[in-house]
Amino acid sequence: MTGVVRLLDAIAGVGRAPSGGYERFAWTAHDLTLREWFAAEADARGLSVVVDRAGNQWAWWGDPDADGPGVVTGSHLDSVPGGGAFDGPLGVASAFAALDALRAEGVRPGRPLGIVNFSDEEGARFGLACLGSRAVTGTVGADRLLALRDGAGDSLADVLGRVSTGSARGVRVEHYGRDDEALARVGVFVELHVEQGRYLADLPADEDAPVAVGAAIWPHGRWRVDLAGEANHAGTTPLAHRHDPMLDLARLITDVRAAAEDAGALATLAKVQVEPNGVNAIPSRVRAWIDARAESEDAVRMVLSTLSGPFGASNVGQVAGPGRSERPALRSAGPTGGWEPVQESWTPATVFDPALAARLADVVGRPGSDLPAPVIGTGAGHDAGIFAAAGVPTAMLFVRNPTGVSHSPAELAEEADCDAGVRALTAVLADLLTRSRDASIENGVMDRMPAGPVHDPVLDREGR
Ligand SMILES: [Zn+2]
Repeated sequence: MTGVVRLLDAIAGVGRAPSGGYERFAWTAHDLTLREWFAAEADARGLSVVVDRAGNQWAWWGDPDADGPGVVTGSHLDSVPGGGAFDGPLGVASAFAALDALRAEGVRPGRPLGIVNFSDEEGARFGLACLGSRAVTGTVGADRLLALRDGAGDSLADVLGRVSTGSARGVRVEHYGRDDEALARVGVFVELHVEQGRYLADLPADEDAPVAVGAAIWPHGRWRVDLAGEANHAGTTPLAHRHDPMLDLARLITDVRAAAEDAGALATLAKVQVEPNGVNAIPSRVRAWIDARAESEDAVRMVLSTLSGPFGASNVGQVAGPGRSERPALRSAGPTGGWEPVQESWTPATVFDPALAARLADVVGRPGSDLPAPVIGTGAGHDAGIFAAAGVPTAMLFVRNPTGVSHSPAELAEEADCDAGVRALTAVLADLLTRSRDASIENGVMDRMPAGPVHDPVLDREGR
C-alpha cells in the first residue's frame, strides 16, 4: 500500500454507512473525527495547524506570516449523502503524501507550504456548497451563514457554539467569517481532486494520461418552476375535468432533456415537491428544480430560453437580489404555453489562471510522451473556484476516475492513478516552491481582494 492509499485507508471507516456510501457532514461527530485525523497527520509531520475564522484547517510547513505568502494545496473531507471515498479526501491525503515526497526528495522550499482542509465543501448540512471557502473569503457574509439551518433546525451558529472547543476545532462563533490573515498567507492554491466524469478514462491509448489540469469551472444555475393545478379526488374526477400539474411536470422533464441536448448542455431535473402528495389526490401544485450547466453561458441561456418559450428567460445570468426567495414564482402557462423558471442561483464561469494552468500542464506532462497534461473544464463546483473568483491564483489537478461516477460509492481512483496524482502534485509543488516568484501569476492576493464585503454572487442553497 502506497502512502496516499494508506492515508485514505486510515479514514475509510469514518462515516461509512451500511450502503457503502459516506455520511460525513460538517461539524458532526464523523467530521470532527476527520478534523482530528487531519490535525494528527499534520502534527506527525511537525506542521503547525491553524484554524481560521471560518473553521477551515491549515497545516503549515514553514512560517507563512514571516516568509509567505505560501503555496497551498488540499481539499475537503466532508461528503454528500451517500458519497464516495475520493471526492475531497483524495486531495487532502495527496497533499500529505506530496509533502512526504518533497521531503524524501530533499526539496528545499523557498517559501512555506500549506495544506488546507476546507470545512463543509459539499453543503450537505446547511444547503450551501463551499461554505468554508465562501466564509473565509467573505464571498457570503458571516451573518447570513451563521443563520443557515440544518435539517434538524439548528443554525450554524448553534452548531459552532456546541463544537468550538478542542485543538482540532478552534472556531469561534463570535469571530466567524472572512479572515484576512488566513487569506494573506495564500500566494497560490492548487487543489487535487478525483475527476467527476470520464474525460481521462475515455482518452485513446496514444493520449493516455492519469492526471489532467483544470482550466475552468462551467457556469451553472438553478431554477424553480411552479406548476399549478387543482386538487381533486382521484376516484371521482373525470380525466377531461382535471387540471393535473403532474402532466405539466412530465412535459417539463422531457423538455429539459431535449433543450439540453440541443444546446450541448447538462440539465437535470432531480428534485420535485408535490402537494398534497397523496396517492389518491390530484395534486394542487408541483414544484420542480432545474440544474443547468454548460461550457458557455450562452448554452445555459439557450436551455432556459427554450423552456421558457414565449415568455423568454430574461433573468438567466442575472444575480438574484435580496428578497429573491419571497418573490412569487410565476405559474406555468400549462401544456400549450411556455414555462417560467425562477432563477434561484447563478454562478458565472470560473476561469483558472491560464498562465498557471499552462505551467502546470507542462510540469505534469503525460507518461511516455512529451505532450503536456490535458487541460479540461468541469461542471462541478469546488473551493478552488471560490478562491479563484476571490482573486487567488488557483489551479486544479484531476485524477482519472475509471467509473466516471462521483457523489456515489461507485466513485473510484485506482491505486496507480492515485500515485500518479501524488507525483504530479509533488512536481507542481516543487516547481512552485523553488522557482522564483512569477509576478505574472502572483502579485499578492490581498492586493486583488476587495477590502469590504464582497458582493455575493450566489446563494447556492442545495449543495453542488
Ligand atoms: Zn469535492
